[in-house]
Amino acid sequence: MRQSQLFTKTRRDAPKDEEAKNAQLLIRAGYVKKEMAGVYSYLPLGIKVLANIERIVRREMDAIGGQELRMATLHPSEPWKQTGAWDGVDVLFKLMSRTEKEYALGQSEEEIVAPIAQEYANSYKDFPIALYQIGQKYRDELRAKSGIMRGREFGMKDMYSFHTSQEDFDRFYAIVKEAYLRIYRECNLTAKVTEASGGSFSEKISYEFMVLTDAGEDTIFYCEECDYCVNEEVAKVKEGDTCPSCSKGTLKAGVASEVGNVFDLGQKYAKDFKFMYKDAEGIDQYPIEGCYGLGITRLMGVIVEALADEKGIVWPEAVAPFRYHLLSLAPDDADVKAFADALYGDMLTGSVLYDDRDARAGEKFADSDLIGIPWRVIVGKDTLKSGMVELVNRATGEVSKLSREDFLTR
Ligand code: ATP
Ligand code: MG
Repeated sequence: MRQSQLFTKTRRDAPKDEEAKNAQLLIRAGYVKKEMAGVYSYLPLGIKVLANIERIVRREMDAIGGQELRMATLHPSEPWKQTGAWDGVDVLFKLMSRTEKEYALGQSEEEIVAPIAQEYANSYKDFPIALYQIGQKYRDELRAKSGIMRGREFGMKDMYSFHTSQEDFDRFYAIVKEAYLRIYRECNLTAKVTEASGGSFSEKISYEFMVLTDAGEDTIFYCEECDYCVNEEVAKVKEGDTCPSCSKGTLKAGVASEVGNVFDLGQKYAKDFKFMYKDAEGIDQYPIEGCYGLGITRLMGVIVEALADEKGIVWPEAVAPFRYHLLSLAPDDADVKAFADALYGDMLTGSVLYDDRDARAGEKFADSDLIGIPWRVIVGKDTLKSGMVELVNRATGEVSKLSREDFLTR
């Protein structure tokens, strides 16, 4: 895409009403626009990043047998009343129609997914089932000061699985865990997995996927020697303790953001909705359910927080809006322009943002740093003399010079 055609522009100053680095950078670079506290619109650059994150998540969920659907987000109140969540969930947005009918906005989809699964799963042979969706969630969060990391409207991948035994849930949980860890790694993040109490859903165990970042809202204790990690909220340990798991390492405290979690819901919703299946002996049983959340927009915010430097955003290749940022440094020089135009024409459509604007080199470099595309390709008067384009890695600053041919086949 030609940058001269991109309708968004960068801005030098951070918006005054944003405390969070992720929102400041994303707004300055033109990825998002703030509508109000906790609610953002995603602009053309932002939507590309979200689409890339969603593509990775979708690929991993499909690979472990997840089946994608799209559930309603405007919910009838009845199932919420049936499970007790109408009054029990404080973040639930409730609406009233002009005919005084009550609705809820989806903050999670347990109330919708169990009745869907129930329509089709009647025999033990129909299990296990894993259903997932990627879409918007609405929560009446009290505090929305973490930019896109805590929204009142936000993007989430939520999956729900149904099993005929606890062992089968445990088996599937282990598979999901590995898929989640692959997703975070592809985003250049290291996630730690905590064990925590099930919060509002149940008394059963839950698992949280945590990425260390000062912008997070949780404190975790983790061992540097092994995988042991717990959330401070439920912890019986403290910083400096010897690791109760490996007995070798010492526990460190760190601030982290929860980028995903898993709850063992047991038979709660199956019982609420009288969702039963016939086992091999023909006896009615309730399935065991698990739910698996992954914050899509929070993940985008955490990537910005964890990887940005003092000059701007640094996207991992897998989620960047473009792979290359082609900068023409002398757009008023006909030969440079011809070279850059031709190079742009030979690059893969969609892989490159071409800064063809009539602007100073310093401005182009600053914008490029802010926008954070992984590879910068520089074409200037020197390129015409040497025949070499300059390739700069945004994350490391490493510079290499390549001939046009070598660059195009790289
Ligand atoms: P938190 O403790 O951060 O409020 P949660 O326990 O409410 O999270 P879930 O209800 O399980 O989280 O949601 C699944 C995932 O969705 C979370 O792990 C997180 O990544 C993301 N998430 C939760 N609330 C928000 C929010 N308000 N804005 C953006 N992402 C969110
Ligand atoms: Mg919450």
